[in-house]
Amino acid sequence: MVKNAFSSEAQPAHPAERIDDHAPQLTYSILRGRNKIGENLIEISYGKTRILVELGKALDGGEELSEREREVLAKSYDAVVVSHYHADHAGLIEQKRDCPIYIGEGARRILGAMDDYRGKALPQNIVSYKDGKPFCVGEITVTAFLCDHSAFDSYMLLFEAGGKRILYTGDFRLHGRKNGEKLLARLPQCVDTLIAEGTNIGSGKPCFSERELENRAAELIKSTKKPIFVLQSASNIDRLVSFYRAAKRCGRIFYEDVYTALLAQAAGGKIPRPDVFRDVYVFPARPVRGRRKEMLFAFEQKCGSAKIAKGAPFVMLLRPSVLGYLKKFAEETDLSGALLIYSMWKGDRERDDVKQFLTETHALGLKEYTLHTSGHASEEDLARLKAHVGAAECVTVHTAAPAPCARPKRALP
Ligand SMILES: [Zn+2]
Ligand SMILES: [Zn+2]
Repeated sequence: MVKNAFSSEAQPAHPAERIDDHAPQLTYSILRGRNKIGENLIEISYGKTRILVELGKALDGGEELSEREREVLAKSYDAVVVSHYHADHAGLIEQKRDCPIYIGEGARRILGAMDDYRGKALPQNIVSYKDGKPFCVGEITVTAFLCDHSAFDSYMLLFEAGGKRILYTGDFRLHGRKNGEKLLARLPQCVDTLIAEGTNIGSGKPCFSERELENRAAELIKSTKKPIFVLQSASNIDRLVSFYRAAKRCGRIFYEDVYTALLAQAAGGKIPRPDVFRDVYVFPARPVRGRRKEMLFAFEQKCGSAKIAKGAPFVMLLRPSVLGYLKKFAEETDLSGALLIYSMWKGDRERDDVKQFLTETHALGLKEYTLHTSGHASEEDLARLKAHVGAAECVTVHTAAPAPCARPKRALP
């Protein structure tokens, strides 16, 4: 039986199970993130091996580190293992240099592209794990399972030692483009402890699929001949795919700003990006200099608004920080009646930059329409996962219940 003082749903040890008090036990401790969406910090130990799972940042605390964050950064670990690149899970990883930090290879490439755009280099102690390939940290074996989430290359993490198993879900959903059934089939069916995210617990939120979102987007695009703009997170690669596919179905070209194009390029594979896809173009949101100019040259033949000037219908992805570009665009083109699709979490509307973006785009005459589905599991899918892995003990983290709070996001340039 895995022991933990924090567990609200701990089950008693099976009567037949005999515990050797002197043998090391695989244990966990939720350092932060129990009653809050995000900011995860979890410790997993066995004997002398100690792993920190996630190194999330409390972004509502500003740039200052909290006492808990300083404590964790100063503490000695054999490794940090991170499920995905969202700031509430990985926001502090670049401040921890005294041990290896493991993250998925695709997620590492995305973090590298983000740093490159900011003129920084990713620290060398950030290394990668591979889907389904176990690796050892001291006496603990770790296996990562690729799952679906609103961040590219996200994983569930399995920790095994001394005959016990702890499965941590990270952030996940079963209604994304990846096949949820296949993921369930790969997971062990007898874990001792399940540490599961609970973002949508109590929300009663309908979680329609990413494919359904693509269909609804295509219907919207078909309904007008006006320009279409989409406000979404640049690092939500699956959402980018949905809007690209919808645009393609409607014969529209697709525009990404330089930063989004760089993240799509880092994701690689079949992700729509201007250097590979004929119908994907890039726009410089602001004058670029130095290294960023070099980055833009990588997309040389696909840059600018010449196609738009020729009247080619388009769908353009936007971020709040490209508002200046949109306002300039509106000086040359009448945008009244153009569509702005809001495709982010509703809580992001409270961010100052999003508020300003929406106010000013409304003033330009854009008509707003919300089209979004959650990057997190529905309550029903959480129940399916719990039943499938047969956990003796279930612990919920990353949940707003009982005290609702905002989900922090990595600050974008
Ligand atoms: Zn999260
Ligand atoms: Zn996340």
